Amino acid sequence: MRQRQESDPVPLKEIEANFEDIHPPLKPEQAAIEANRCLYCYDAPCMTACPTHIEVPRFIKQIAAKNPKGAAKIILEANPMGHSCARVCPVEALCEGACVYHDWHQKPIEIARLQRAATDFVYSRGARLFEAGVKQSKKVAVIGAGPAGLSTAFYLRRLGYPVTIFEKRPLAGGLNTYGIAEYKMTQATALQETQLVAELGAEFKFGVEIGKDISWEKLEKEYDAVFVGIGLGRTQALNIPGEELSGVSDALSFIEQIKTRKFDAITPGRVTVVIGAGNTAIDAVTQAKRLGTPKVILAYRRSRNEMSAYDYEYELAKKDAVEFLWNAAPKKIVGKGKAEGIEFVRTKTEGVGRKAELKIIPGSEFIVPCDRVIKAVGQMKQRSVLERVRILELDATGRIAVNSKTLQSSNPKYFAGGDAINGGKEVVNAAQDGKRAAWAIHCYLGGDPQPAPEHAYWVSTIDVRRMAPPLREKQNPKHEQKKELSSV
Ligand SMILES: Cc1cc2nc3c(=O)[nH]c(=O)nc-3n(C[C@H](O)[C@H](O)[C@H](O)COP(=O)(O)OP(=O)(O)OC[C@H]3O[C@@H](n4cnc5c(N)ncnc54)[C@H](O)[C@@H]3O)c2cc1C
Ligand code: SF4
Repeated sequence: MRQRQESDPVPLKEIEANFEDIHPPLKPEQAAIEANRCLYCYDAPCMTACPTHIEVPRFIKQIAAKNPKGAAKIILEANPMGHSCARVCPVEALCEGACVYHDWHQKPIEIARLQRAATDFVYSRGARLFEAGVKQSKKVAVIGAGPAGLSTAFYLRRLGYPVTIFEKRPLAGGLNTYGIAEYKMTQATALQETQLVAELGAEFKFGVEIGKDISWEKLEKEYDAVFVGIGLGRTQALNIPGEELSGVSDALSFIEQIKTRKFDAITPGRVTVVIGAGNTAIDAVTQAKRLGTPKVILAYRRSRNEMSAYDYEYELAKKDAVEFLWNAAPKKIVGKGKAEGIEFVRTKTEGVGRKAELKIIPGSEFIVPCDRVIKAVGQMKQRSVLERVRILELDATGRIAVNSKTLQSSNPKYFAGGDAINGGKEVVNAAQDGKRAAWAIHCYLGGDPQPAPEHAYWVSTIDVRRMAPPLREKQNPKHEQKKELSSV
């Protein structure tokens, strides 16, 4: 990315170039070389590390055998959000982080890019890999067309249930479509993926907010079971003076403007300060930089050690020449009508980790001049919405309380998953929740708890890893080591 010195308007072509894919696709010959590097480990740790338990060695083997369609089927069977996960998953912390190549201090297999090679192949050709099951008499409502709702609908349609997805926004995909950094995944890719569910015959009702346009009670009467995949709410407020000034926005709406290509509605300005230190804050700083803002600062009230963003996200921000302001708590946003700066006060932490006590250093106030402030201090739970309807029990932090095995809520007719139950994790967790909930809904509605042969594989990836047959003996030192340790 080219660094700019001043705040001249940035040509659209340059902005588009800055938002280009950070992990470009592998060419077929590169994919073949990479796939042939895989050891197809028995008891593969990459597979265990994936929350959806995709059979990584088996799909990579299909790529090596020049069968990308077969590879895509293996992937999507275990994770219907496999197209987006190939782009947005924190693979360094999941599958690629567990690859045995790390044991030999060598580059792990590029699992995500291989996964992308397979799903790109089928989506670019419009190949249909799955069919809806034989029609069931009971019908299910899904609230929210984000990754959790889409995944639930995918499996329920395969089991034959009529499914209606209610989505308050005009497009499907949830945060995949409206929130994920544009250089990781474009809105077009997110929408392409939602076709998988539409093609299976799920009905989408857009612009319908449950609780406003249709009551929860009415929905409950009309459907035999309800899946709640409503995600989280708005960005939390800072609760400091000056938040209402122009030039102050929250990370979600800022990112949404970029994802919907409203570049001309966002002037890059001269200095942007992003408050927060999670992955969303990193997405906001890197995208502010890519819009052409010369100076972008990430400000966090604690130290670098307590930053919750993944290390590789932090490295990305450093590469984009973002500046960091640690141990600085915002006190007020200053300016006449529009943001002109933020007053911070210095802090120190006492204790270890993120629970360490935060202490303000009196008299240490200072002002950072800026013309844009972006709040990225986490999303609120949907507590107020859910408390109003009093249908589902919430836990102490405002998440929907569910049985961890079945994702059934306190109200037996309702199941829930994704960010609404975990407080905000990743797309892959929402996808796995959808799978778990779909099977549990099937059992709740009186379906056969013994999966039919066409469902045996994906059902086996809910809890138990399906064991790939051994390919070669003693090929995985990590596995051998684990066996030795567990037998002590
Ligand atoms: C800025 C940002 C960046 C992220 N980056 C990544 C990343 O790089 N990688 C990654 O794996 N994860 C990332 N995540 C997390 C990931 O996006 C979420 O974990 C995932 O989208 C959760 O899926 P979900 O279906 O539970 O919720 P959501 O994606 O939020 O979907 C919920 C859907 O429900 C709809 N809805 C809500 N209430 C109602 C109602 N009453 N009636 C009808 N519809 C309703 C919403 O409009 C929305 O479409 C990011 C999150 C954010 C905020
Ligand atoms: S751990 Fe690495 S080498 Fe082994 S199967 Fe997984 S990707 Fe291949």
